[in-house]
Amino acid sequence: MLVSMKDMIVEAKKNHYAVGQFNINSFQWVTAILQAAEKERSPVIIASTDRIVDYLGGLKLIASTTRTIVEEMQITVPVALHLDHGFTVEQCKRAIDAGYSSVMIDGSKYPIEENIKMTQEVVEYARKFGVSVEAEIGSVGGTEDGVVGGIKYADPSECFRIVEETKVDALAAALGSVHGEYKGEPKFAFDLMKEISEGIDIPLALHGGSGIPDHQIIQAIEYGHAKINVNTESNKTWAETVRNILTNDTKLFSPPDILGPGMDAITQVVQEKMRLFGSANRV
Ligand SMILES: [Zn+2]
Repeated sequence: MLVSMKDMIVEAKKNHYAVGQFNINSFQWVTAILQAAEKERSPVIIASTDRIVDYLGGLKLIASTTRTIVEEMQITVPVALHLDHGFTVEQCKRAIDAGYSSVMIDGSKYPIEENIKMTQEVVEYARKFGVSVEAEIGSVGGTEDGVVGGIKYADPSECFRIVEETKVDALAAALGSVHGEYKGEPKFAFDLMKEISEGIDIPLALHGGSGIPDHQIIQAIEYGHAKINVNTESNKTWAETVRNILTNDTKLFSPPDILGPGMDAITQVVQEKMRLFGSANRV
């Protein structure tokens, strides 16, 4: 069964830890991430970013396959399936209809009025199905919606407005994190983060959670982040592992021998993140 992420992150915020959102890039990612969650007794958010939904075979295939893998593996920890950076209101509704238990509507590139309107529409639809919703203010640096750009720090008054007017469950406020790889140490606006976190009662979501030094992660959790997104780090570790295997034995062609260790590497990364975020042994 898939559950909304709402209870997981409310509980996490109350107890000062964060639940990891781990993005999938094939269904082997689902298996690898679930294995880690079960081992660590941790709640988990599995996500497909809107940008690669078609590559993965479509919303229905992703939702039904994830649900089936959860059943086949007899997973006993709470699992949410989340649409990351939903492009449009329609796409969020389609994801909910397909069986996603959580969605993000990313209206951050639109003026605030438009962003609030889009978010309201998704929240209203999602409520009927017990699905949680995340919104975004500002712009996370790196690649967002397939567009490479700089960081646009979130405006606290816009954050307060969107939370108040939409009753969304989580807010991604861009405060210095970057999708993809960091060049040097991330430049977080911790003063803004504190101000925003104190002015809202819902959890913050940290995008671009790969490659952030541990002390900054701990600080971000202290300042209200109860959801942290990880994608780049598991992809890099996977690629490194598979590349080494192929380079070391150029005659090897058995997929389980090539891809199996790649999956184990993802499980390893996810387990480490769950311990760092403090979500391990909470179930
Ligand atoms: Zn993101």
